[in-house]
Amino acid sequence: MIHSGDAAWLLEKREQHVAEVQEHYFTDPPIMERGWRELLVDADGRVYVDALNNVTSIGHAHPWIVEAIRRQWSLLNTNSRFHYPAIADFAERLADLLPDGLDQVFLVNSGSEAVDLALRLAQAHTGQRDILAVREAYHGWTYLTDAVSTSVADNPNALETRPEWVHTVDAPVSSRTDDPSRYAVDAVAEVERLAAGGTPAGAFLAETLYGNAGGVALPDGYLDAVYTAVRAHGGVAVADEVQVGYGRLGHWFWGFEQQGVVPDIVAVAKAMGNGHPLGAVITTREIAESYRTQGYFFSSAGGSPVSSVVGHAVLDIIESEGLQENAAVVGTYLKERLEELGSRHPLLAAVNGFGFYLGPEFVRENGTPATEETAAICDRMRRLGVLIQPTGDHQNILKVKPPMVFSRASADAFVEALERVLTTGW
Ligand code: PMP
Repeated sequence: MIHSGDAAWLLEKREQHVAEVQEHYFTDPPIMERGWRELLVDADGRVYVDALNNVTSIGHAHPWIVEAIRRQWSLLNTNSRFHYPAIADFAERLADLLPDGLDQVFLVNSGSEAVDLALRLAQAHTGQRDILAVREAYHGWTYLTDAVSTSVADNPNALETRPEWVHTVDAPVSSRTDDPSRYAVDAVAEVERLAAGGTPAGAFLAETLYGNAGGVALPDGYLDAVYTAVRAHGGVAVADEVQVGYGRLGHWFWGFEQQGVVPDIVAVAKAMGNGHPLGAVITTREIAESYRTQGYFFSSAGGSPVSSVVGHAVLDIIESEGLQENAAVVGTYLKERLEELGSRHPLLAAVNGFGFYLGPEFVRENGTPATEETAAICDRMRRLGVLIQPTGDHQNILKVKPPMVFSRASADAFVEALERVLTTGW
């Protein structure tokens, strides 16, 4: 039996062959053995509150998923060129979750694939190669999604190394300015500049709530203004819902609903498979048809019977257990408790986000981002039994995005651990 004493040699073994650029959480990570709902249990039986795993949307080890996968694997798993009900049912159900007109579904295996395909569709449909993206973003690791990922926390050279057809605008973070409406004005000006220069943007790509920058809501009217300008020059609006979509915002199933807009192409992944490799692009029939200029679309495991059944089961569970509502109720409660904590501990300067996508942000008295403090807070929280990590270009924001089964008791445990750290030091 493995126990905590094995952590060091196991880590050494991992570092021998798991290419080192694939980093792991924590310098001395516990060995995780099992999970249940929003809890993780290590090899010594120590229980942690998992405030981090947005991918495990319906919670760890959900018996319905276990059974759905077991059953489908024992019957059939094959590629989507065969005819079986699960793919038709799941695609129909996904289309039903989106506004009218967005009813053509491509099933893939990850968020990177989904955003990559979304951009390729945009380029094929518009015949315009240039892409406008938002700075401080992460959209994936494929060649194309890496080209539009501008977060220097993920890649310090991100801005210098992007191709000349990728253009960026300021990260629209309202708290950094007295006039948040200027972000839309600047982005629209960039759209106009590109068009005037003969390279109009074929796509505007953005997360619909700014997950990577720390769960930051976009300024009111931002997407409406930029989408309108891009469309006026023949481009399309691409929404990256990989992190923030699928119910965790509580009041909205999709992030774009919070902005009151409808994109032309939606990329989704993570939550929809609860950790099973599953992603999708949903768009209009006209845009989907443009893929024909590239040949046929095929993904060996995308939309397989097992993946489709998983996607179905995840939605069944979100609906039957009221997980979107839980995100609204418990997420709001957690945000309020964190804000109250911030009123007593000035280092906790703001709490971004909604529902189960929150970003408590740490800023020093002199206004500089509390990067080192945030890393130390995460380490200390881990020792207190709460798993959390930093995000943002300054790594001074906690990415609070737990499984959507997160209970009020776990919200209390999270706040109490953070309070202890802020009171006694890290
Ligand atoms: N888009 C966003 C906003 C993401 O956060 C991520 C992953 N962190 C991706 C795309 C890529 O998803 P994946 O890791 O499934 O390829």
